[in-house]
Amino acid sequence: MKNNHLGYIKKGSLTRRQFLWLSSMTAAGCVFGCATDPVTGKKQFMLVSEDTEIQIDKQYSPVQFSSDFGETQDSLLNRYVSEVGNKMAAASHRPHMPYSFRVVNATYVNAYAFPGGSIAATRGIMLELDNEAELASLLGHELGHVNARHAAEQMSKGQLTQALVGGISVLAGTQSAALGDLAGQLGQISAGALLAKYSRDNEREADALGMQYMVGAGYGSEGFVGLMEMLNTLSKHKSSTVDLLFATHPMSQERYDTAVRDANTKYSSALKGPLNRDRYMDHTAGLRARKGAIQEIQEGEKQMAASKYDAAENHFRKALKQAPDDYVALCMMSISNLAQKEYALGRQYAEMAQKAYPKEAQAYHLSGFSRIQLKDFEGAYEEFRSFEQLLPGNPNTIFFKGYCREGMNQIEPAAEEYQHYLQVVQEGKYAQHAYRRLVDWGYIK
Ligand SMILES: [Zn+2]
Repeated sequence: MKNNHLGYIKKGSLTRRQFLWLSSMTAAGCVFGCATDPVTGKKQFMLVSEDTEIQIDKQYSPVQFSSDFGETQDSLLNRYVSEVGNKMAAASHRPHMPYSFRVVNATYVNAYAFPGGSIAATRGIMLELDNEAELASLLGHELGHVNARHAAEQMSKGQLTQALVGGISVLAGTQSAALGDLAGQLGQISAGALLAKYSRDNEREADALGMQYMVGAGYGSEGFVGLMEMLNTLSKHKSSTVDLLFATHPMSQERYDTAVRDANTKYSSALKGPLNRDRYMDHTAGLRARKGAIQEIQEGEKQMAASKYDAAENHFRKALKQAPDDYVALCMMSISNLAQKEYALGRQYAEMAQKAYPKEAQAYHLSGFSRIQLKDFEGAYEEFRSFEQLLPGNPNTIFFKGYCREGMNQIEPAAEEYQHYLQVVQEGKYAQHAYRRLVDWGYIK
């Protein structure tokens, strides 16, 4: 299916209708919706086609990757993770899917997969892994979710978040609840809103497949046990950096116990297979050189979540001392300043972030938002245009472009943007603002 220029926000899009249809159909049983599970060969209740899985992936994964501050600029690391992932994907149950692998800059600990095969691991989780076999296990687990079609299954049961199926307009509508709401204004998607939430059965199956794929690729099954041990330890130390990981991938002692059992029985011949620790250490050297900075960012984000901006900025500054060009640290400094209405400083840090990573979208939004506050509407408009080119389809951007035009007293272009916005989002303070202006200007009678 082809995307138009509006991408996933097109009003009355297939996915939106499909969601309503799915909701009404879930009680109807296996009449129209049966497909063959590519892993088990059994019939499964499935209302979501493979084309739809790929389409949803294309629409949402770029938004999630950008909200995780984009792919790491460490191309050696990205290539390495892709190489390990592609090797296993080729031998998976759905080798024809358009798989892709990357490390994203975010510092919280997580990995996730979109239903078409776009898979990401954060810098935070890459620092927790000890060897290539553990990385293969992690990617194998995510491949397991894709191959067993868990996101599509959750969607068919109506379990996947409405936001994911209903379109980003739902998110935009709720996030712009107040014009003073910073999160809404920064155009960020609330953490994890686009990620599928899996059941414990899904996790068990993804683990089983992950181990099968990593052993199949020639790794020692001890690597899978190592991954489970690491996750199990993290789950016992409640920390905000791992919250999302366990919200999206439920963890239990049972998963660790199963890994130990299978490594010693089913896969005992692979128990002493290679872990490739040296290879992992070589390819993550650049990342590990930033470990101190990344830990400071993790601490800073914890303070930010508690609105302790001074403490947060102390941590971000320490991070920047160690890694002056760290995109996340620069963006977080910008956000913290904007949250405290220090708009000029917020703009400075946003500009530094743009220089550090010109192809990543978030910093343009931060700069645009700062410029609006500083009444530089012309400059802000250009920033939002750049944001839109890098990451099309965020309705907040349309609203802000209209708002900038209004600030420049360009009524007709402003009205066009507001009309465009109202086609996508009908609720919330932004929609009210846009509607009121259109009435004031005589476009709506
Ligand atoms: Zn999982």
